[in-house]
Amino acid sequence: MTIDLSAFPRVALGHWPTPLDECPRLGAELGIQLLLKRDDVGGVGAGGNKLRKLEFLLGAALDRGADTVITFGAVQTNHGRQTAAACARLGLRCELVLTRSVARTGQAYEESGNIVLDHLYGANVHLCADAEETAAVYNRLLAEAEAQGRTVATFPVGGSDEVGVLGYVAATVELFQQVDSLGLDVGTLVVPVGSAGTAAGVALGAELLCRTTRVEAACVSHTAEESRADITRLAGAAAGLLGAAEPALPELVVDDRAVGPAYGVPTEEMWRALELFARTEGVTLDPVYTGKAAACLVDRVRTGEIAPGETVVFLHTGGLPGLFAYAPDLLARAGS
Ligand SMILES: *Cc1c(COP(=O)(O)O)cnc(C)c1O
Repeated sequence: MTIDLSAFPRVALGHWPTPLDECPRLGAELGIQLLLKRDDVGGVGAGGNKLRKLEFLLGAALDRGADTVITFGAVQTNHGRQTAAACARLGLRCELVLTRSVARTGQAYEESGNIVLDHLYGANVHLCADAEETAAVYNRLLAEAEAQGRTVATFPVGGSDEVGVLGYVAATVELFQQVDSLGLDVGTLVVPVGSAGTAAGVALGAELLCRTTRVEAACVSHTAEESRADITRLAGAAAGLLGAAEPALPELVVDDRAVGPAYGVPTEEMWRALELFARTEGVTLDPVYTGKAAACLVDRVRTGEIAPGETVVFLHTGGLPGLFAYAPDLLARAGS
C-alpha cells in the first residue's frame, strides 16, 4: 500500500532525508557491503532518532493546545535531551522526570553528557531514585500544571507510542527511496531496540512497502521475547492509526545476544565494535544503544547469520552526547 502520513499533525525538527553513507573500509573489514543510515546527524538538539518520533508527538500535542511536555527516562536519556531541545524550539515548557535506574554512578555519568544539555536547553530536570518517586513527582507536576491552567502532553519513555512510531514509518519510506535510487538490494537492516518504537516503525514500514529485507532488531535492554512483544504491540497500534491490517512481521528477527549484564552497562564486545566503527570510518557510536547494536551486527557476520558480501544497512540512531558519560572507561581503554 502507499503510506500517507499527511493527515497526522507534524512539526519540523530534523533535516530530511538523512544521508545514507557507504562505509567501504568497515564493510571490507566485515566482508559485507555496509551502509549507514545517518539519523545521528543534524536537526534540533544534536540530533538522533527521537526527533522523528517527536515530530509527530509534538504535532499532536500542539494540536490539542499543550503548552507543557512531561516525559521520562534514565539519567542519560537521549530522548529527554531531544525533547528538551524540541520544546525550546517550540516555546514549550519541558519537565524531565529522570530515574537513577542504570547501574552506573560517578561524576561523568551524573554531570556530563545528555544531562548537561537538558539543563542547557532549559528543561526542568527532576532526578528520582526509583519508580515510586517517579510516579509521585509526575503526579505533583500534573497537579501544579492544572492549578496554573497549563495543558500537559505526557510522552512515554523513548517517545514510543503509536504516534511516535509514525516517525519511523516515515523514515523507512525515506530509506527505501534512497535504497531504490542507488539500485541496492538490501538483505538486512540492523536497528537497535530500547523502548521499541524505532524498530516497530521500521518493521511496519518495510511490511507496508512489501519489502523482504530482514529487519534485525538488536536489543539493548530487554530480552528478545520482551522486545518482540513491544515491537509487535507498537507496530499493530500504529497500523491501526494508518487504517492498515495488523502486521505479520515475517521478516523481523529480534536478537538479544549483545545486551550484556544490563541496559547501559558496557560490554567488551560493545567497546570493540564502537572502536571498529570509529577507526575505520570516523563514525561515533554510543555505548548504550548503537554500540551494542553494532556488537550484534559484528557477531552475526562472524557466525554467518549475515552472509558474506550481503548488503546491510545499519541504522545509526545517534547518542553521541551519552558517550561522554562513559569518558573514564574510554580513557582507560586508550591508556591500556
Ligand atoms: C532511544 C534510542 C534508541 C532506541 O530507540 P527505541 O525507539 O527506544 O527502541 C537507539 N539509539 C539511540 C541513540 C537512542 O537514543
